[in-house]
Amino acid sequence: MPLMLELQGVSAAYGKIRALSDLTLTVPDGQIVTLLGANGAGKSSTLKVVTGLLRPSAGRVLFDGHDLARMAPETIVPLGISMVPEGRQVFAHLTVAENLRMGAYARKDAAGVRRDLEWVLALFPRLKERYGQEAGTLSGGEQQMLAIARALMARPRLLLLDEPSLGLAPLVVREIFATIRQVNAEGMSVLLVEQNANLALQVAHHAYILETGRLVLSGPAGELRLHPEVKRAYLGG
Ligand code: ATP
Repeated sequence: MPLMLELQGVSAAYGKIRALSDLTLTVPDGQIVTLLGANGAGKSSTLKVVTGLLRPSAGRVLFDGHDLARMAPETIVPLGISMVPEGRQVFAHLTVAENLRMGAYARKDAAGVRRDLEWVLALFPRLKERYGQEAGTLSGGEQQMLAIARALMARPRLLLLDEPSLGLAPLVVREIFATIRQVNAEGMSVLLVEQNANLALQVAHHAYILETGRLVLSGPAGELRLHPEVKRAYLGG
């Protein structure tokens, strides 16, 4: 299967604090890959390496033939990578409509942008109902939907999601995960960082488990769900 993203032996640090050690992982084209691990395992750092916010000290980060390891964030996004950061970070004083427009700021294809606006509003009907509302006044779940919709407005080929379920009610989380699955079914590749291993292993094709910046286990999500060690440490027994 062709690879959308490939990390080869990536190490990275914040000054003296080592965040990733010799990490190798792949996201095949059209798949959902999840990255699991406890707090501080290096999940967010992995995403930062892909978006150019954290420079690896060793290794390669390949996306569609480009080595991202030496590229700046502003040159990485136009290649087709969009990130939904942890904690949502929508523009609170802009409306839903304005936030969505910001997601498409780098695009020149006006007709495509209009089409994608229809698309994301169909994916998230609640955003359509709140189109003129200031984003800061949305519920947490709605803000997460907006953050995802905004990222989709860039029409990425690879969508990076950092803890989309964080702090949200189970019902909203289910809705958001159903949408992630739908977007993937339409062909988008997804790299999903999640604390909720149960949920992540239900939606993902493949999973990687990190501990203190190192890969400790990986495999098809369906197999990892049955793995005794994964059940004990990540699925609550
Ligand atoms: P969480 O689920 O808590 O977000 P994580 O798996 O995403 O955890 P990272 O945020 O990638 O983990 O952190 C990996 C390591 O790097 C941790 O030891 C963390 O303390 C450290 N770290 C992360 N960001 C910084 C930073 N800006 N400066 C210094 N150290 C950092």
